[in-house]
Amino acid sequence: MHTHASTALGHASAQRPRTGTPHAATGRFRQVKTALTVFLLGLFYIAPWVRWTRGGESSQAVMFDASAQRFYLFGLEFWPHDLPLLLGLLIFSAAALFFVTSLFGRVWCGFACPQTVWTDLFFAIDRRVDRMLGRDHPLGQWAKTGVHVVVAVFTGFTFAGFFTNIVELGPQFISGEASIVAYVTIGVLTFTTYTLAAHARENVCLHMCPWPRFQAALLDPESLVVTYQNWRGEPRARARVPLRPEIATLDSSAYIMPRVANPSVTGSNAATTYRGDCIDCGKCVSSCPTRIDIREGLQLGCIGCGLCIDACNTVMERIGRPHGLINMAPELSAVGGCAGKSVRIRLFRAKPMFFASIMMVTGSAMAWALATRSDVSAAVEHQRQPPFVKLSDGSIRNDYTLRFSRLGVHDSNVEIRVEGLDGAAIRLSNSAQASFTQGARRSFSDRVMVTVPKASVPKVRVPIAFVITDRETRAPVARLETYFWGPGGVR
Ligand code: SF4
Ligand code: SF4
Repeated sequence: MHTHASTALGHASAQRPRTGTPHAATGRFRQVKTALTVFLLGLFYIAPWVRWTRGGESSQAVMFDASAQRFYLFGLEFWPHDLPLLLGLLIFSAAALFFVTSLFGRVWCGFACPQTVWTDLFFAIDRRVDRMLGRDHPLGQWAKTGVHVVVAVFTGFTFAGFFTNIVELGPQFISGEASIVAYVTIGVLTFTTYTLAAHARENVCLHMCPWPRFQAALLDPESLVVTYQNWRGEPRARARVPLRPEIATLDSSAYIMPRVANPSVTGSNAATTYRGDCIDCGKCVSSCPTRIDIREGLQLGCIGCGLCIDACNTVMERIGRPHGLINMAPELSAVGGCAGKSVRIRLFRAKPMFFASIMMVTGSAMAWALATRSDVSAAVEHQRQPPFVKLSDGSIRNDYTLRFSRLGVHDSNVEIRVEGLDGAAIRLSNSAQASFTQGARRSFSDRVMVTVPKASVPKVRVPIAFVITDRETRAPVARLETYFWGPGGVR
C-alpha cells in the first residue's frame, strides 16, 4: 500500500470529534450507506415477525427450528442432509465477497458488515441525543447508554426469535417463562451488541477483524479504492494561500479520470508559495468512522465507506473547486499527474474474472440442486455381520437399517414392500407390520427384517429393492436398491 510522506507544510491539523462520534457527512456515499443500513437492519428486525402458512398452520417465514433440525425460509424447508447446499452458499458468498473486493476494495466492510451496520446505528443514536440535549448536557451520556442498552436487548431478543416462535417469546421473556437457552441467547447477543457497537466500534475493524489483513491480496492495480489525489491536493495549506497555477487552469475533465504519474506536474515545486486543493481542514479525518487520515495513503484501517469523499466534496463545493480530491480510483492515480494519461480500468481482469467464474459454477450447482431436490431422504443399509441368518425352519433372513425422512409438517404414513424376491416377508424390528409412521419434523430409523422361505431362498446374493408407498394416496415415495444374501454368498 502506498504511504504518503508529510507535506511541505507539515502534518494535517486533523480535527477529531470530541465525543468519539465522527462528524456526520452528507453526500452520495452517506445516502447509499444510510439506505443500506436501514434495509439491512429492517431485514433483521422484521424478518422473524413475518408469518407464513405452512401445512395449513400459521408459522414463521424464517425460522431455525433447532429441536427438529429444520430451517424454514418461506416455502422452502431445509434439513441436515441439505448441508451441501449450505456449503455451496458459503463458497458462493466468499467468492462474491472476493469479487466485489477485487473491483471496489472493502465496500463490504464499509457498507454491509454487521459491525459497521450496528456501529452506524449507534453513531446515529449518539448524534440524535446530542442534537436533542446538546453536546455537553450532563445527562447526555446516560441517555445514550440507556438507548444503547434498549437497542442491544431488542437485538438479542430478535436474534433469539429466529430460533423459536417470536410471538410467544415476548410474553415468555417478560414473565420469566422463556427457556434458559432463550435467556442465554438474548444475554449473549445483548452483551456482544452493546460491547462491540457502543464501545469497541472502530477498534473491531482496526484490531480484531482478520479480513483487512488479506484483503490487500485481492486488490490489483486497477481496483477502485478510496484514494486521496495527492497530485492535486499537495501541498496542503490554508485556503488563503494561492492555488498552484497548473491545477487552477485545468478544465474539469482532468479531475474526473484518474491519471498516471507525470513527474513534471506532481506539485511539490510550488511548496512554499502555492497550495494544492487540500486546505487542511481535517473534515475527511473527523468524518471517518475509523479516524484515519486517508491522505497518508490506503491503510488497513480504511473500511472503504467513502464518508471522507462526501466530507471533502462538501469542502470543495464551499471553496469552489471540483469534486474528487478524494475519490474511488485506482491507488496508482494518487501519485498521478494532471497532464498524464488516464489509468485504464478493465472489467475483464484476472482476479475479478476468477472469482466471478467460481460464483457462476457454485451458483449454477446450487440452482440445479434446489431445482432437482427431493422432499424425501431415504437410505437402506445391509447389515454385514452376519450377512444372513438361517432360521430353524430353513428360511433365510437378512437385516437392514432403514432411515427415512420426508419434508412437511404432517405425519407421514407409509408402507414398505420388497421387489425381486418371491415369497419374501418383511417386518420392522419393533412391529410385525411392514408399515410405519414418520412423525412430522422427525426422522424415522429402524431395523428391517426380510425373510425368505426355504423353498425360495436364492443360492447367492441377488439384487432387490425396497419400495416405499404412501398409505393414503398409494403414491410411490421412494425406491431403495440393495441386495439379499443367500447362503452361497457372492458369485
Ligand atoms: S476534507 Fe479535503 S480539503 Fe479538508 S483536509 Fe481532507 S482532503 Fe483536505
Ligand atoms: S478513510 Fe475513513 S472515511 Fe474514508 S473511506 Fe476509509 S474508513 Fe471511510
